[in-house]
Amino acid sequence: MKKETIIIIGAGPCGLAAGLALQNKGYDPLLIEKNNVVHSIYQYPSHQTFFSSSEKLEIGGFPFPSIERKPKRHEALVYYRQVANRSKLRIQSYERVEDIVEEESCFYVKTQKQTGAYKMYNASKIIVATGYYDNPNLMEIPGENLPHVYHYFKESHPFFQKKVTVIGGKNSAVDATLALEQAGAEVTVLYRGEEFTKEVKPWILPDFHSLVRHGAVTMEYEAEVNRITSSHVHYKKNGKELAVETDFVLAMTGYHPNHTFLQRMGVKIEGDTGLPIHNKETMESNVKGIYIAGVIAAGNDANEIFIENGRHHGEKIAASIESEGL
Ligand code: FAD
Ligand code: NAP
Repeated sequence: MKKETIIIIGAGPCGLAAGLALQNKGYDPLLIEKNNVVHSIYQYPSHQTFFSSSEKLEIGGFPFPSIERKPKRHEALVYYRQVANRSKLRIQSYERVEDIVEEESCFYVKTQKQTGAYKMYNASKIIVATGYYDNPNLMEIPGENLPHVYHYFKESHPFFQKKVTVIGGKNSAVDATLALEQAGAEVTVLYRGEEFTKEVKPWILPDFHSLVRHGAVTMEYEAEVNRITSSHVHYKKNGKELAVETDFVLAMTGYHPNHTFLQRMGVKIEGDTGLPIHNKETMESNVKGIYIAGVIAAGNDANEIFIENGRHHGEKIAASIESEGL
């Protein structure tokens, strides 16, 4: 085993893949995860089907057999748990990385365990694979913090025979609408765009458009939501102020990486795009020795890097570290 001390922050699919790529080169990285492995997938809607086929979600060469071509969330949870187990990756779960300080090419990593106790590690290389799913894009409008407004959709059952307003116009909004309508909710979708874009998976749209055509779902394009109250969602469309009565609001407005966390380590973030500055060949950031892996490398654009391509970042990082002769 090579001596280099490498810490990977985040044990999502891309953090795990980076760990496996390093293991493959003879390193023994330590993964530190604030929840348990693949926590973002755990947080998906309970009955989520992936849009990727299972082989495109495989990491470290471990086969991912699934019942249908496109696996469900619970199959992925089993798969990634088994990979973590079989590979014997070193994973410290329920430990959050709070801070990283660099001194003379050594990184001091401060963590806090679930018990509240702090711990300090040192490492010569850091790989940040913290994803984006912890930070919903807020609309920053009055009423967004009311208790009937959610930024995550888990199950449709609580919304049976209730009026639900879905905000957003991409995959989460369309998926949630289909599930809600099927469970007997009365759904209105408010989307700021003129029409759905190519990022929405084409195979989910025919069912959606059919529900709209048959009046089972109300769809409002060019709807700029500006206020939420306990009973209504207010929006502006074509210069007119309108409102829809609602019991619940699902703000499916996407997610973004924790920029502050990266900036505190000295990683520079590009203006509006939220892109961390990094070399695309090596995934090394502007801070020597700090690498980024997974969706965090796409900044604010949630539709550029997925497991499908983010799982390969670790191979680039491992090759780069190995090329230094460490
Ligand atoms: P994440 O999976 O988000 O993992 C980051 C990990 O870091 C988390 O476990 C988190 O707890 C941990 N973490 C964060 N901060 C800290 C900290 N300070 N200290 C310690 N740990 C920390 N992609 C596909 O390729 N195919 C699909 O079909 C697909 N379907 C999707 C369906 C839904 C509903 C959603 C929301 C996304 C889907 N995606 C899909 C996207 C996919 O989930 C992400 O691309 C993937 O999770 C990114 O992996 P990651 O390892 O970069 O980040
Ligand atoms: P997303 O792709 O980022 O879409 C967010 C939506 O919310 C967009 O329509 C956006 O509008 C809108 N929005 C953002 N900020 C807003 C604001 N302030 N006010 C009003 N509207 C706002 O997020 P997502 O749909 O949750 O998807 C996240 C990731 O999960 C993606 O990678 C996606 O592919 C993946 N996903 C996959 C599946 C699946 O595999 N079945 C299902 C769901 C999600 P604009 O369109 O104008 O930008």
